[in-house]
Parts: sequence; C-alpha cells; structure tokens
Amino acid sequence: MASRREFIRRSFALSALAAPMVWAKSRKEAAAQTELAPPPDLFDAQALDLDFWLKPRTLSLVRPQTGERTRVLYWKDGEVIDSAYQELCHVLRDVNGKRAAPIDPKLFETLWGTQAFIERYGISQPLEILSGYRTEESNNRLREQGIPAARQSLHLQGKAADIRVPRLSAEVLGGLIRSFRTGGVGFYYRSGPSGGWIHTDTGLQRTWKG
Ligand SMILES: [Zn+2]
Repeated sequence: MASRREFIRRSFALSALAAPMVWAKSRKEAAAQTELAPPPDLFDAQALDLDFWLKPRTLSLVRPQTGERTRVLYWKDGEVIDSAYQELCHVLRDVNGKRAAPIDPKLFETLWGTQAFIERYGISQPLEILSGYRTEESNNRLREQGIPAARQSLHLQGKAADIRVPRLSAEVLGGLIRSFRTGGVGFYYRSGPSGGWIHTDTGLQRTWKG
C-alpha cells in the first residue's frame, strides 16, 4: 500500500501537466491519418490523479482468434466483482489448450488503466487480447513454431498478456503501459496491417524489444 500511496502522491504532483490540451491540437491533425500516433511522451500514466483510480472499472476486450467480445464492469468501490473477474479470466484463457486459469488482478488493473487512459483521447476500442494465460504445452508449441515465447514465461502463471489496439502503434501503446510502472513491457514490432503487439506482465519492471 505504501508504494500505491507514494504513486498517488506523485500523480497529484504531476496532474498539472496539461497533456490533454497539448494533444487536442495534434489529435485534429491526426484525424485525417489512418494511424493514431501521438508522441509517446504525451501518453504518461504518471499524470493520472486519484479520481482516475477510484472510478468504476469496465473492461472491453476482444479475442481476435475466436471472435469473442466482452464488456464487463469488474471493479467498483475498491472491490473486484467475482463473476466479472471469472468472465475476464475466461476471455484470457488459453484458447489453443482450452484451459482457463486465475489471472493476476494486477494485470487487469494495467489493462483497464491502459484502456481508460486512451479513452480520454477519443480512442474508444476494445483491447485485442492476442494471448493471455498459456499452458506449458501451448507455450512450447509456440516456441517450436518460432513465435517469441520464453521458457519461463509469465503467461504460464496468468501474469501476462499480449495486446494490441487497432490503429494505435505498438510504440505508443507500449510507452503508455511502461509509464504505469507495473511490470514488464515487451515491444514486438511487425510490419503489415497488424503493426505488432505489446507484451505486458506483472513481473519485475523491465522493457525489451522482441
Ligand atoms: Zn507475451
């Protein structure tokens, strides 16, 4: 709790940053473009105030692999709503291994914070979950296929997700998530329409490019 209080205190100090004002101008300029790519330094979660973290939390997620969509209020008045938590764990299940597992609630906090933050900038889209929990078999299969997957991946513990937001570059999305300072952030840049993805986890704070 001490670190959370410290975090909030720091957030107050930084809340005077007028990021939305600055971004308002460039958003108009960006509107004509297909890629929403504000300068990453404008996406700084440290500018958030206490009110932000006290709001009820609704997450909108989509699993492109299965076509599932969910929009669920999962946290309110400081408490996780169990039925909604179970639903989110189901969405983040291993769709290849057909197994669900408990997901670290801190991961949902990062996902919600990310979604709620970018909504302030008029980007209102479900987060695409490319991968959530993975069984060891599924993780090994990815490795055999040459897809990035660490042997001791935090996906195996329900502490990681690979995500994407359509039209938002991996650099901007990852920069925002890194600014939450809640764990590891992997940047996976890819050319083509997918534009890459971001790995986010609740492990040690670290950043890498894959
Ligand atoms: Zn990952």
